Amino acid sequence: MSLVPPPPTPSSLSLSPRWLLGPGPSEVHPRVLAAMGRPLVGHLDPEFLTLMDEIQDLLRYVFQTANRLTLAIPGTSMAGMETVLVNLIEPGDRVLVCINGFFGARMQDIAERAGAQVTVIERPYGEVFDPDEVRAALSRMGPKVVAIVHAETSTGAWQPIEEIARIVHEAGGLIALDAVTSLGAIPIEIDAWEIDAVYSGTQKGLSCPPGLAPISLGPRAVEVLNRRKTKVRSWYLDLTMLQRYWGSERFYHHTAPISLHYALREGLAVVVEEGLEARFDRHARNGRALHAGLAAMDLSLVTDPNHRLPQLTCVRIPPGIDDLTVRRRLLQDWGIEIGGGLGPLKGQAWRIGLMGYGARPSSVTLLLAALETCLRDLGYPLEPGAAIQAASAAYAEAGESVMP
Ligand SMILES: *Cc1c(COP(=O)(O)O)cnc(C)c1O
Repeated sequence: MSLVPPPPTPSSLSLSPRWLLGPGPSEVHPRVLAAMGRPLVGHLDPEFLTLMDEIQDLLRYVFQTANRLTLAIPGTSMAGMETVLVNLIEPGDRVLVCINGFFGARMQDIAERAGAQVTVIERPYGEVFDPDEVRAALSRMGPKVVAIVHAETSTGAWQPIEEIARIVHEAGGLIALDAVTSLGAIPIEIDAWEIDAVYSGTQKGLSCPPGLAPISLGPRAVEVLNRRKTKVRSWYLDLTMLQRYWGSERFYHHTAPISLHYALREGLAVVVEEGLEARFDRHARNGRALHAGLAAMDLSLVTDPNHRLPQLTCVRIPPGIDDLTVRRRLLQDWGIEIGGGLGPLKGQAWRIGLMGYGARPSSVTLLLAALETCLRDLGYPLEPGAAIQAASAAYAEAGESVMP
C-alpha cells in the first residue's frame, strides 16, 4: 500500500498581528475572540437553542425590526445575498437591480441565475441613485423585486433608502437591501423604512469573523415566500426549511457552526452595551477625522461629501504612486491591511475601513502616519505631520482625545 508521507510536523499556528483597516474582515473585538474559545455544546443542546433565540432578539435590535423571520445563515454575506434573492424570485419574475458598484453587479448575476428577467439601472462608481430614476424604471417594467445596496463597499457611497422603499411599494414591488457594510456602522431601520428583505454579514460593522449572514424578512416578503408556486432553487438556502430550524420546531436542517454563533452573540452583545446611537456617532467621528487627514495630504475621495460613508473610504491613488508598492509596505512595515480598488477602480483607489472595533482614533492616526511615511518615501511631496494634525483637530472639535 502506498501512503502519502506526512509533511514535517507543523509548529503551532502563529500569525503576525495586523491592523485590519480594509473593506473586511474588520478587527475582531477581543470579547468575540474570547467567546469563540469556549468549549462546544451540541447544536440541539437546550443552552444552544437558547443562544439561537438570543441571537434572533439581538439581530432584531440591530436591524431595528420586529420581523419574526430574522436569523443567521451559515456562510458569508454572499450567502445572505443569495438567500434573499433565491427565496423571493421564481423563474420569469421581473427584478430591477440598481448597480452603482461591484456588489450591485453580483445581485444581477444571482437574480439571473434564479431565473429572473432582470432589468438594470446604473450609476457610475461613487454615485448614488436618485428616487426619481428608480421611479422611472419602475413605471417602465413593474418589477416584483427591487435590489439595492445601502453601503457600497467598492466606492464608499451611502445610498439613501427610505424614499426609494416608499416608491417601490407604491409600484407594488418588494425592496431587497444589501446592508453588509452598513449594519452596526450607520443607521438602518428595517421597520421604519419598511424594508421587505435585508441581508448582512458578521465581519464588517459587527467585528466578528466572517462566516454568518444575518437576514430578516418582513411580512410582505414572507407572504411571497409562502405563496411560491415553485420550490426555492437552493436546498441549503431555502428559508421555508431554515425558519423551521430556527423556530420552535427545531427541525434538523444543518449542524450550526457553533463557535461562530458564540462570536455573533458576543459581537451583538457588544453593540447593545455601546448602544446603536453611540456606535453610529463613533463611526461618524472617526470617519470625519480620517477624511480630514486625507484631505490634508491632498488625497481626493471617490464619493462626494453628501453621500460619503464614515466606515468605508475610497481614496484615489495619487499620480505616479503604485498601488501594490504602498499596500505591501503598509502590511510589511506597519502591519496594516487596507484594500485595493474593485472593478474600474482597480489600481486607481485604496479602500480604508473603519468598521466596528476598528473605528477608533488609534487606527486613524496610525494609518495616517503610515500612509504619509510611505508616500513621502516614494517621493510624493507632503508636509510632515499635516495629516495627523488635521485628524487631531477633527477629534478635538468632537471633544475626543486622539488616544484610544
Ligand atoms: C463584503 C460585501 C459583500 C460580500 O460579503 P462576503 O462576506 O465577502 O461574502 C456583499 N455586499 C457588500 C456591500 C459587501 O460589502
